Amino acid sequence: MQGCDTIFDKILAREIPASIVYEDDDVLAFKDLHPQAKIHVLVIPKRRATSLHDLKDQPAANVGAFMIAVAKVAGHLGLAHDRSGYRVVLNTGPHSGQTVFYVHAHILGGEPLGSFGK
Ligand code: 5GP
Repeated sequence: MQGCDTIFDKILAREIPASIVYEDDDVLAFKDLHPQAKIHVLVIPKRRATSLHDLKDQPAANVGAFMIAVAKVAGHLGLAHDRSGYRVVLNTGPHSGQTVFYVHAHILGGEPLGSFGK
């Protein structure tokens, strides 16, 4: 079944290794195994959800806290420095290309990124 025991559940449980770049009470952030940009980090909430669409059933404060954490991680990575910026992607469901059914935000940056979706 989708979303029960994903690779990200295992990373969160420290059952498999990951290159962790940030952790607090609410989120864990680690480097993507197959980076699509100079910096490519994934952020997951510790309270599991399958996708963004699943998050709609959680209190708005949780979802807000997740997005704030994403921005904090990007800042921690130096991506907001000099307003260089970054891209956040939340693939949701198979048509989007989501392959790991534990909600995660991709943070991409560290270099100019191509136009999205072209
Ligand atoms: P999705 O396609 O679901 O939005 O993104 C899943 C991401 O997880 C992909 O970018 C993929 O490279 C990454 N990924 C898959 N398996 C692992 C893993 O075992 N460790 C890490 N760090 N990233 C992974």
